[in-house]
Formats: sequence, structure tokens, C-alpha cells
Amino acid sequence: MHVILLGPPGAGTGTQGTILAQRLGVPKITTGDLLRDAIQKDNLLGRDAKRFMDRGELVPDKIILSLIKQQLVSPEAAKGIVMDSFPRTVRQAEAVNVMLMEQGERLKRVLLLDVPEEELVRRLLSRSAAEGRGDDTSELIQRRLHAYRESTAPLVGYYREMGILTIVSGTGTEEEITKRIEEVLGT
Ligand code: ADP
Repeated sequence: MHVILLGPPGAGTGTQGTILAQRLGVPKITTGDLLRDAIQKDNLLGRDAKRFMDRGELVPDKIILSLIKQQLVSPEAAKGIVMDSFPRTVRQAEAVNVMLMEQGERLKRVLLLDVPEEELVRRLLSRSAAEGRGDDTSELIQRRLHAYRESTAPLVGYYREMGILTIVSGTGTEEEITKRIEEVLGT
């Protein structure tokens, strides 16, 4: 089952994506983690991406697509994939469709985790205190939310038109949200 968890920064797609991937027994693709990994390794791609991440901007599609191509077509991904924090632009979404089609697969469902903006900011600031992630400062949070509104929010209409979008409330306890997701997917 190929599923996308879509949502603004702080919506909880990472947490719920991990739970869902485990439950389905499929890999999870998280471009944010892959990018932080590349930065840690200090390879060329990581150095390229860091400039954008440090400014709270999206990393260009070309870099993201080269990063995920391998993962999308890996044998482990044949049974399905949970994607979180990816795709984030219409161009990335189109690339996913093409890559899946080439393997005779298609997206089963896109779940939009809906969380009010003041709750997002609250969560991101408390994560900043807990994990010390460099891009969780007040200014960068605003920039990331702006990038979401500009570039990622259009995916809502894109997937709605494909007829595979479901909006799920992303507030409540972790267990409550997991349950809502499972109900939508019938798992
Ligand atoms: P958050 O959702 O909290 O912003 P992520 O770990 O998903 O955290 O992303 C951190 C940063 O990595 C983003 O601000 C962006 O710069 C970059 N990034 C991650 N995934 C993508 C993507 N699919 N396309 C473009 N940039 C991305």
C-alpha cells in the first residue's frame, strides 16, 4: 500500500508515518531525515541542501528527486511505502506518480493531517526545546510555514482532484490520531 502523509511542519506526519509504516510492514520515506543524514555525512548533496534548510526554504526539486529515486524503486518498496515530508511540491508529486506508474503501482491514499496554525507553532517551539533542531527557531518556523502555504498546500487540490485525498484531524492524543488514520485506510 502506497500512502502519503501530508501536512505542514509540526502536523505530526513523522510520528504517525513511523507508526503506520511499522503496522503495514513497509518502508517509510522521510526526505527530511534523508537530508539531515546527508548533511551529517557532509557529502555534496548534503552541503547543497543545507543552504536551503538553514534558511527555512524548500530544497530544490532536483536535489530531492535524486535523493528519493533509489528508495522508491527498491525491492523493499514493492509492497508499499509510507511517504512523509515528501512530496512537497506539485513537481515532486508528479514525479512520484510517474515512478509508481512505471512499476505498475499507484497511490492508494493521501492523508492530510489538519492542525491549526497556533498549535503547529506551539509544537515546533517545544520540539526545539526538547531536540534542539537548528531550524526550529521562531523565525525559521514562520518561513517553513510560509514555504508550506506557497509550495505544498497546492498538493491538497492536486490530490483531491485525483480523488485520493482524505483530511484527518491531527489534534488529540497520538493514539487517537493513529486510530483515525487506520479507520481511513481500513487497516
Ligand atoms: P518539517 O516538516 O518540520 O519542516 P522536515 O524534517 O520534514 O521538517 O524538513 C526539514 C527541512 O528539510 C525543510 O524545511 C526543507 O528545507 C527540507 N525538506 C524536507 N523534505 C523536503 C522536500 N520533500 N522537498 C523540499 N525540501 C524538503
